[in-house]
Order: sequence, then structure tokens, then C-alpha cells
Amino acid sequence: MSIDDDPTLNAQMTAWRRDIHAHPELGFQEQRTAGLVAEQLERWGLDVHRGVGRTGVVGVLHAGTSDHTIGLRADMDALPIAEANTFGHRSRVAGVMHACGHDGHTAMLLGAARRLAATRRFDGRVVFIFQPAEEGLGGAQAMIEDGLFERFPCRSIFGMHNRPSLPVGHFAVRSGPMMAGGAFFDIDITGRGAHGARPETSVDPVMAAVHIATLLQTVVSRNVRPVETAVLSITQIHAGDAYNVIPQTARLSGTVRAFSTDVMDLVRTRMQQIADGVAAATGATATLDFRANFAPTINDPAQAEVAAAVCTELVGADRVDRDPPLIMASEDFSFMLNRVPGCYVNIGNGEGEGGCEVHNPGYDFNDRALPYGAAFFVRLIERQLAAGRAAHH
Ligand SMILES: [Zn+2]
Ligand SMILES: [Zn+2]
Repeated sequence: MSIDDDPTLNAQMTAWRRDIHAHPELGFQEQRTAGLVAEQLERWGLDVHRGVGRTGVVGVLHAGTSDHTIGLRADMDALPIAEANTFGHRSRVAGVMHACGHDGHTAMLLGAARRLAATRRFDGRVVFIFQPAEEGLGGAQAMIEDGLFERFPCRSIFGMHNRPSLPVGHFAVRSGPMMAGGAFFDIDITGRGAHGARPETSVDPVMAAVHIATLLQTVVSRNVRPVETAVLSITQIHAGDAYNVIPQTARLSGTVRAFSTDVMDLVRTRMQQIADGVAAATGATATLDFRANFAPTINDPAQAEVAAAVCTELVGADRVDRDPPLIMASEDFSFMLNRVPGCYVNIGNGEGEGGCEVHNPGYDFNDRALPYGAAFFVRLIERQLAAGRAAHH
């Protein structure tokens, strides 16, 4: 499959994409989207498994005799954002929109499945993974805990995310770390409430909280090796309701990002020590709840080479960025990459109106990127599961 050689399929992908965009569903609520996906896959003769990881769908396509299996993954969920666009396919659901392009990811992978099911020019098995709840609700882990890789063992796995600012028809592929791991945390501080004019009878949790908040700023600057990268942001402070009351409790909340599990563990350990130490010094108690929602996204070097070679075949080396900037945001495909070697590829979404980024109320997936994404998956399978070759691996 080359780019744009199947206008019928391209029109079909655009129709699916706009239909899904108009009917966005939040994480683990993707009933309609999952139904659309499963119905299409069944129609093309795939072996379809619904309800994997609650609302996830897996379709298996086998051709030839080889057992060599490759997994391809797309995410299906939308975000709790009120759409600002006014075009015809705008969200029909108040307060929910596809602002991260998962509508496009789903349509591209569906397009690849339809094409591969029709042509079957490969020898082996393709596992199409349509994942729910990527946006912080743990959809990848839900599928893994539901036995995804025991039921559908994959030798390698590939996923794709659109990248605004990268031109349409371009790809970006990194070897090794690509996106940060992410954690959310809460630190609950308990002191002793008192009259605001009688501090000597209190254990002031506000004072403990601000000292903890200040010392937490030394973790990245003083404990993480300067050549490594991490972010520790305190994004919420909650305490008190009155001018003349020293409250009983205070809470600090925020997020941590890092590109390695070691750095994430170091940050967590230092946070615990600072919270405990300041609490001890002030007479309060502090508890740290640190939730590592996302692992760092780390591409397997060999599979990154495979992905880059496929992209280069499709669009030429000058349109494949092999050294794109690291991304401080997180992605739960990381948990699948922790289990199976693979690669996460970025596909150009173009500038959009006003250079619109993901998670913005004016964002829209670029339909012109659909043929490139589908072609990537098709070419990847035809190359890695080449008929007459895969069986001998
Ligand atoms: Zn997102
Ligand atoms: Zn996304």
C-alpha cells in the first residue's frame, strides 16, 4: 500500500473518524466506539474479542502458516473538554470531545485492518488492540490485567500518536526514552487546630505544608543527577476555611514526571523523607500517597529501527525525524512496551488553525494524516511478516 492509492478506503476512514469525533466517549465508557470497531472487524472476518479491559476490543487476523505475531494498538477515549469547533462533525456530547486525536488513531488502525483483511499479503498473525481509557484512567493496564498478552502473545508491538506541529506526511521515531513517566501525589498533613490568635496551642499544618512545598523544590535541583530530567510540580494547596482558625489539616497535591523508573523512585523516596522530616520537626504528621499512573515510554532500539525503516519507505528519509525532542507528557502505551518490545511512532498532524495543540478545545485530528497512518501499519505488517520469510524466523 502506498499513500493515497485507495480513495475508497481513505473516504471510509474519514467517515469513521468524523463519526467517532461527533460521538466522543470518556474512558471506560467507549460502548459505541467499541461497538463500531468490533462490528467492522467482524464483517471483515477477524476473530473479535469484546470487553477486554472493560471496553477494549481485540481483533485477530491470521494469514498463512506462521505463528509470528505482531500487535498494533490504538486508543479510543475522549476528554472532558467542551469543544469550541463549529464544523459539522463537532461533538454532539456536551463537555466531551476528542481533543487528543484518538478518533483518528482508531480510524487509521481500522483502515489498516480492513486493508490487511482484504489483501492478506503476509504470513503470520496480527493482533489489533483497540484500547480504552488512555487519558489517565489506566486502560492499558486494564487490558494487560485482563490477560491481553497471555491470550494474544505478541512478539512485538507498535502504536501511533499524532503530533501537531509536525507536518502531515512526516513521521518522528525515537529509539529509547521518548515520553516521560508520570505520577500524581497527595501529601496530607495533620496538625492540631486552634484559634488563630492562640498559635501556642496549635500544631500548625499550614506551616508544615509550606516548608514541605519549599523543600520539595530541592529534589530535582539537588538530588536528581543534572544530566537526567525530572519535573516536580505542586499544583494544589488546600488548607483552612476561616481568617481566625488555624486548621487541623492541609493538603499538597501535584505531579512528577521523569524518563526513567530509577529517577521516579528516587523522587518518591526523597519526597517521603522530606514529608516525614518536616512533619517530625513541626510536630505534625504527614502521609504521602504517590501514584505512578504512567511508566516512561521507552522504545526498543531494534523495533524503532523497524518503524523508522517503514516510515522511510513510505515518505522518504527527509520526512522522518529520527531525533525529535523528548516529550514531558505521558502515555500509557508505556505499560504495553514494558511487556513487549516495540515502538511508539509520532505521525504529523500539521499546524492546524492557530497551531492548535492536543487537549485544546479547538483541536481536530487532521484527516489528511489518515492514509499515512494506515499505510504505516499495513507496510509494517507486510514487511515484518513477509510471506515466505516469517516462517523461518
Ligand atoms: Zn491526550
Ligand atoms: Zn492522546
